[in-house]
Amino acid sequence: MAKAIAMEKDDSQLRQKQMIAEHFDRLAAAPDTGDKCAYTFVPGNLTELLRSFDVLPVLPEINALQAGMRGKSREYISIAEKLGHSEDVCTYVKCDMGMLKSGNIGPTGQRLPDPDLLLLSYTGCFTFMKWFEILGREYHCPVVMLHVPYQGDGAITDSMRDYVVEQLERKVIPMLEQVTGKSYDEDRLSECLAKSAKAEDDLVAVLESAKHTPSPIDAYFGGVYYIGPIFTAFRGTDEAIDYYKSLRSEVEQRLAAGKGPVTPAGEIEERYRIVVEGPPNWTNFREFWQMFAEEGAVVVASTYTKVGGVYDNGFRHDPSRPLETLAEYCMGCYTNLNMPSRAGMLAKYVTDYNADGFLINSIKSCNSFSAGQLLLLREVERRTGKPGGFIETDLVDPRYFSASNVKNRLESYFQMIEQKRSGG
Ligand code: SF4
Repeated sequence: MAKAIAMEKDDSQLRQKQMIAEHFDRLAAAPDTGDKCAYTFVPGNLTELLRSFDVLPVLPEINALQAGMRGKSREYISIAEKLGHSEDVCTYVKCDMGMLKSGNIGPTGQRLPDPDLLLLSYTGCFTFMKWFEILGREYHCPVVMLHVPYQGDGAITDSMRDYVVEQLERKVIPMLEQVTGKSYDEDRLSECLAKSAKAEDDLVAVLESAKHTPSPIDAYFGGVYYIGPIFTAFRGTDEAIDYYKSLRSEVEQRLAAGKGPVTPAGEIEERYRIVVEGPPNWTNFREFWQMFAEEGAVVVASTYTKVGGVYDNGFRHDPSRPLETLAEYCMGCYTNLNMPSRAGMLAKYVTDYNADGFLINSIKSCNSFSAGQLLLLREVERRTGKPGGFIETDLVDPRYFSASNVKNRLESYFQMIEQKRSGG
């Protein structure tokens, strides 16, 4: 059994840490500098549009997951439950509420500024609406909602695109003009979009490196670090371009050297190639990852790394059609896809990445991901002939991470793959 070691940090990781720290410094200083900020969500975020108005994004989901990783979420959730939020509510929401009621101290220990705007891009999860209803009552600031039509039939039609563009023109942009006192500058938006597309190219190259055997990356546990800048505050910036360029070059070096990913169990020998559906657990993130690593299981593709944009299907932000491309981006996020599309995506990953099987991490409090996952399991098994596994954890509520249960299920699952291999 491999022994846990302190994970070495690549240049790109250090760079990412610094980018995030600087972003939180700017947010903490916003009340003095006059920088405006908008609270918004990861799926369907309009970061380039915000950046074109010099508005800083704050992502409550990211703050919640960071609180989970830092061991603060139990206390925050308990505060929210005492205030009457039910046990079944998404734990990101409760964590965010508890954080707000405890002084709104963000992940770096600095106070987050109150929002100048709540920008709600509604992409597939009803909880987003309720969450911002609550924040709207707490902060008494303007709220603008972009209603993103669900891909019920598995496709984006012209009328769906027009509907989103019209809301951007008539509601979102006028609200940003009102909050910032600046006029909409389409050239500036296009510049940001061109920068996004460059970074997106490099991100896709990194994710697709996992098609090689052995994979140089872990596309779930490692993948959550790789998507950090592009899913949060940095799309459309030079920093994002530099970060993804350097990350790609590091991954290509690992690939050339035939190396596997660096994990909490050190560099491991790849024994199982797995596709994973569902968000990770954050409260026991390293322990969870280590359970995979000790078995030699490398995640070669995951759906969670597509919640803030599905780029490996060819989508890129297009600077020549600024508002249309933003509309298509919002509608294409994973949370906005119907079940057959999700099943198709998982089955394709299993085939394209030559996986031994796929595993669903079902999140107790995330209805958006969890609804229908057992059907998904059967459907992907039927389409691929590969074994599916099912485990249950939670996002940031440590009460729902049972290490022994997860470990038992994982061990049985890997045994099942072995049996399949030997024709059993
Ligand atoms: S229910 Fe799931 S998708 Fe919705 S806000 Fe919570 S974690 Fe996000």
